[in-house]
Amino acid sequence: MAYIGVIGTGYVGSVSGACLADFGNFVTCVDKDEEKIEALQKGLIPIFEPGLDAVVERNVRAGRLRFTTDLSATVKTHQIVFIAVGTPSAEDGSADLQYVEAAARETGRSMEGYTVVVDKSTVPIGTGRKVIQWIEEELHRRGRDIPFDVVSNPEFLREGSAVYDFTHPDRVVIGTEGETARKIMKDVYRSLYLNETPFIETNLESAEMIKYAANAFLAVKITFINEIANLCEKVGANVQDVAKAIGRDGRIGSKFLHPGPGYGGSCFPKDTRALVNIGRALNEPLGIVETTIAGNEKQKLRMVDKIEVGLGSLSGKIIALLGLAFKANTDDMRESPALTIAEGLVKRGARLRLWDPAAMKEAAWRLEALREGEGLDTPTEQKLYFAEDEYDALTGASALVLLTEWNQLRNLDLSRVKSLLTSPCFFDLRNIYKREEVEAAGLRYYGVGQP
Ligand code: NAD
Repeated sequence: MAYIGVIGTGYVGSVSGACLADFGNFVTCVDKDEEKIEALQKGLIPIFEPGLDAVVERNVRAGRLRFTTDLSATVKTHQIVFIAVGTPSAEDGSADLQYVEAAARETGRSMEGYTVVVDKSTVPIGTGRKVIQWIEEELHRRGRDIPFDVVSNPEFLREGSAVYDFTHPDRVVIGTEGETARKIMKDVYRSLYLNETPFIETNLESAEMIKYAANAFLAVKITFINEIANLCEKVGANVQDVAKAIGRDGRIGSKFLHPGPGYGGSCFPKDTRALVNIGRALNEPLGIVETTIAGNEKQKLRMVDKIEVGLGSLSGKIIALLGLAFKANTDDMRESPALTIAEGLVKRGARLRLWDPAAMKEAAWRLEALREGEGLDTPTEQKLYFAEDEYDALTGASALVLLTEWNQLRNLDLSRVKSLLTSPCFFDLRNIYKREEVEAAGLRYYGVGQP
């Protein structure tokens, strides 16, 4: 059993902390956001992540998991400190390391004995070395010489299945040169080690690169199939048949070959931008990733064009958008394609009726700017209406645009859909429905990459 402090209790920190406690460790999760910590102390999970509440509850009850805002006390009393703070994009596309630096420096200001500092945030290659330097500077300022090791331990969990992913990873990457730290990390992940999860041991730089390379590759794969889908539409091919057949090739693999409105979320967009930034700075440009970023932006806007082609002019049209989070089973709307598509539709004069099973609160503030000028022509005219449920969203709309593959959106009552819409247009941007089924209900079907 290890004593672990986790700095940052967001999507990654809360799941990592709870699951590490489930592995039998004693974990204290720290966040500077008092509201978040207060909620967690009351057993309320501030994010939508299936199954996380049960893991938190079980471990709090067993006395293995606590939540606090006191970073300093946590560092003093825990031998292992995970950094799981955000690394958002800076204006130039590079990763903004201010939160990682603050966490590292605060660790250096507080540690009292040998500490393993584990970087779980996704960070540019070379950040581990900077973390060492930041901690050394703080120790120097204190006139202390305390031994510590820095480990890069990137996280590969997917929001929506984060608990499962953390407890059943394809691999655990441990990047460090410290032999003691390596042993301690194996102890932290002992239950996975015993389950024969592959452990990949590297230096700091390789571990940092692995995370960026993995995300960039997945983003490229999605964009590749999106571009093939776009071409399929022009040549009369069906991308679903194409994806199925090429995916059977073991060298290609069937995952991440689902065309759609473009990728979003808190990772792929910012991580691809950061990697491109690193490549350019070192004069080793990553052309394929740069093209992917541009292709993904185009894909999101292409969806607006697709809707306009199907509906005719969008001016004054009411459109229902269902599924606003960047994917199913999360409330995360960071860089969700829904944001770009909603903006594009409103710019072309449409009014929106919106609904998502978990992201309504997020959608309200993230889309607020689109309300500008609302009601100027007609006092009662709303540009955005946040619906009560999926069918309320459809009432009086000219089209249904399905953006995310939530389970409860996979099985809509199509005759009810038809009766609620004022024109029978169904844009299935995730290719969930079968054309025949939708057409049999009297609706016009528009998928992605289908003839
Ligand atoms: P998040 O924004 O949800 O959470 C970050 C948390 O850190 C916030 O609650 C913030 O208040 C807290 N924080 C920041 N500075 C702090 C400090 N000095 N002391 C205490 N708390 C502090 O971010 P996230 O989505 O959990 O991502 C965290 C990192 O993990 C990022 O680098 C991200 O790229 C990476 N990652 C994310 C995912 C994912 O699916 N979200 C998956 C793998 C890796």
